[in-house]
Amino acid sequence: MTTVETEFGVLAGEQRMLIDGELQHTSSGATFDVIHPASEQVAGQATDGTVEDMSRAVAAARRAFDESDWSRDVDFRYHCLHQLHDAFDRNKERLRRILITEVGCPVTVTGSQIESPIDEVRHWAEHGKAFEYLVDTGVHPTQMGPARRKIHYEPIGVVGAITPWNVPFYLNVAETVPALMAGNTVVLKPAQLTPWSGSEYGRIVAEETDIPAGVFNVVVSNANEVGAALSADPRVDMITFTGSTATGRAILAAGAPTVKKTLLELGGKSAHIVLDDADLNSALPMAAMMACVMSGQSCILPSRILLPRSRYDEGVEILKSSMENFPYGDPWDPGNMQGPQISDGQRKKVLGLIRSGIDSGARLVTGGGIPEHLPTGYYTQPTLLADVDPDSQVAQEEIFGPVLTVTPYDTDDDAIAIANNSIYGLSGEVSGGDVDRAFAVATRMRTGNVTINGKSHFGITSPFGGTKQSGLGRRNGDEGYREYLEGKTIGMPE
Ligand code: NAD
Repeated sequence: MTTVETEFGVLAGEQRMLIDGELQHTSSGATFDVIHPASEQVAGQATDGTVEDMSRAVAAARRAFDESDWSRDVDFRYHCLHQLHDAFDRNKERLRRILITEVGCPVTVTGSQIESPIDEVRHWAEHGKAFEYLVDTGVHPTQMGPARRKIHYEPIGVVGAITPWNVPFYLNVAETVPALMAGNTVVLKPAQLTPWSGSEYGRIVAEETDIPAGVFNVVVSNANEVGAALSADPRVDMITFTGSTATGRAILAAGAPTVKKTLLELGGKSAHIVLDDADLNSALPMAAMMACVMSGQSCILPSRILLPRSRYDEGVEILKSSMENFPYGDPWDPGNMQGPQISDGQRKKVLGLIRSGIDSGARLVTGGGIPEHLPTGYYTQPTLLADVDPDSQVAQEEIFGPVLTVTPYDTDDDAIAIANNSIYGLSGEVSGGDVDRAFAVATRMRTGNVTINGKSHFGITSPFGGTKQSGLGRRNGDEGYREYLEGKTIGMPE
């Protein structure tokens, strides 16, 4: 086995999955490789779980929900989540190295993917402890006489959590921890490219917390059928999913026969409307940074820049210089803020979309290919395409690379129409000198979230999610916690 050699040390993550309290390999012993995208080397292996393994995990979660006190004992859950928080904190440098090894995320920007989700475990423990699970709504008149009504908020049951590779540890936590705190049992299916961010979570639960057997399971696999089996299983009450819109559609269809509750956070193609009174020297370098910092592998990235025609050339020039000076390369080097794409396949997809943009008449301002000085690793040059037709493929499809497209517009109404010309509606951004005008534009964007003048919409205390084909339901905030509960209305004597 070739290993990843870096000044931060060699790292191979936990190979085993967690089913019914036991860390285990799949019965055949089959494994698959984890590739470090910065070196293209095999970093190690993960067990290659099967549909049969998934079935055993679902059975364990079903039994733990139906037969243990987990769903009713909020104090015990609070205790276990604080243990989980502390255990993650003790393991945080190992989790960070796994993240960099699997994804190629630059070490400098790992805080939001390691420290933030660890803090969020404590947040959900406190939120769940303080939550009012029984609400007395008072006495209501009925034709049969007055009735008191109480609403009892109860966990949904067995939750299947399916996650993508772009921010794996963060999303593994975001999808499972509020579900657990609300009293559900969970089966997590991490993405093929990032199995260790899931299997390490399983190891930590098994070895360092009192979370009972069956309450939390992780099934690692290299096959899409294993996630498909989870989303179709009649013993599963809810699916929480983050990933592409195409897979989201398949999950909705698979859950239809059993009318499964489905929480979907899907793809995006967000627009950044730069108004004619904006401070371009502040807004645009930040826009370039957002495009590059996770190699563009971010669902909320405002990748379509809409510039007023009156300031178009000035804006394109600022973006060009920001992208040309962006530090990228080896993710273990703290000087770099952009690493490689996660895989050769992802980079080919990004380069193909850039080519389609040029073929449809866009102007390549900078970048567009593989950097000559980085022949090893799946690196892509920060890329700027100008004069992009808003109906073209590169303006309509999610790129997931360090690429910005620029399109000119004439009036605010035109800008809003171009921004809304998308099947997606995840997020968006407005920059402008007059904040009231920017706010008015933000309210007309058909998306779940908008940032004005760099002030982020994203955080654990506020609901986050998509409209249109970017998703169903919300994470974060009290709204996000309630997604994992169902209110039962009980009518009773006064
Ligand atoms: P993907 O949809 O290919 O895979 C996501 C997960 O689904 C993986 O675990 C995969 O194994 C599993 N899967 C694949 N086919 C399945 C099926 N038929 N049934 C059940 N599960 C199945 O997505 P990806 O390429 O891993 O991630 C990138 C996508 O995720 C992008 O579109 C990005 O926008 C999206 N994303 C969205 C958000 C958000 O909050 N909206 C956040 C991060 C990523």
